[in-house]
Amino acid sequence: MKKTPFITLEKAREIAEKIPTPYHVYDEAGIRANARALKAAFAWNQGFREYFAVKATPNPHILQVLKEEGCGCDCSSYTELLLAEAVGVTGHDVMFSSNVTPELDMKKAYDMGAYINLDDATHVDFLEKLVDQMPETVCLRYNPGGSFTISNTIMDMPRDAKYGMTEDQMAGAIARLQKLGVKHFGIHAFLASNTTTNEYYPELASNLFRLAVRLRNATGAHISFVNLSGGIGVDYRPEQPCCNIAIIGEGVRQRYEQIMVPNGMGDVAIFTELGRFMLAPYGHLIATVLHQKHIYREYVGLDACAADLMRPAMYGAYHHITVLGKEDAILDHVYDVTGGLCENNDKFAIERSLPEVQIGDIVAIHDTGAHGHSMGYNYNGKLRSAEVLLKEDGSFQLIRRAETPADYFATLDCTPFMPKC
Ligand SMILES: *Cc1c(COP(=O)(O)O)cnc(C)c1O
Repeated sequence: MKKTPFITLEKAREIAEKIPTPYHVYDEAGIRANARALKAAFAWNQGFREYFAVKATPNPHILQVLKEEGCGCDCSSYTELLLAEAVGVTGHDVMFSSNVTPELDMKKAYDMGAYINLDDATHVDFLEKLVDQMPETVCLRYNPGGSFTISNTIMDMPRDAKYGMTEDQMAGAIARLQKLGVKHFGIHAFLASNTTTNEYYPELASNLFRLAVRLRNATGAHISFVNLSGGIGVDYRPEQPCCNIAIIGEGVRQRYEQIMVPNGMGDVAIFTELGRFMLAPYGHLIATVLHQKHIYREYVGLDACAADLMRPAMYGAYHHITVLGKEDAILDHVYDVTGGLCENNDKFAIERSLPEVQIGDIVAIHDTGAHGHSMGYNYNGKLRSAEVLLKEDGSFQLIRRAETPADYFATLDCTPFMPKC
């Protein structure tokens, strides 16, 4: 499908007059409409809840929009818990899915009354030592090992993944937790990331539903929810088929009817912890062309760099690029589009067909709403960009200012060298 930016050149310029590029901009209307579509797709399940994966876009203004759409927060660290708390998301509105968990983080999640998702059977003792009374409900993360395949396609290799525990360990953990007074259980697994098939969630659900039945039968435990976690992908490439959330919801419903209902488990809630699906398409990184150079390839250099969006450098990920105002121009030039880090992998696009680009052009890099700004870093002394919320009424709001040199120096003890830093 042709990828159309949600922002016009005029709007991008209007914002840039107040908030210089580069900036990340988020489309509130798109976020809300998508959250509603997810909710509608799972409306058949009474207890359905999306816990937005905070790590994807850890900005309280975004969490607030999602909260208004009925989402909770999925946190994996102390600071993510603080962010959830800051927007009034606490108690069972928080899922704490962490691994290699520090005591401080675990205690904070417990004190907030979050659902705690244990990554390992040894974390039963770890939690027990930290708290006076065990929570009523505990979630356990499953790792089936082997490879995870859908219609003969290998989606991922759980046996190589550090997350979760084996089925035997889960059964043992449940038995021990029952002795410690835990009454209800959740089960969770995240087996493949950025999937673009509508079959991922239904296949995962079918595995987890069968597991839930076996664990219930083995231990007598009451399973209160199945957490399908994240992993629904987005169409980063224009030619990529897009996931259809209504079809995905219906696929999960069919498995639920086949497996859960006949086993007397028709009261189990479905939870999700989507990040990418909730936000990626509703963010653009807006940048200005600073330089062009012509050597063995044609280069377009932006004022944004991998410090603003790490995915291309880190995974070779494709992000579509639109030169704003040239949406309908012919793509008759081929460029490498780069940032200014002293790393040759700082390329947003390699040999990409674009319209002829001029210095001063403004580009929109697509699908940066999740795992975009949040993966930012400060290599080469680069400062992370601002975040802007494009509201439903067309106005915009600065929801995170750009970093300044003072921010970069804030953690240094630099008083002997630069007293005013
Ligand atoms: C990263 C993560 C998610 C969200 O993943 P997406 O690919 O953004 O949907 C959900 N749950 C856990 C435990 C994660 O680590």
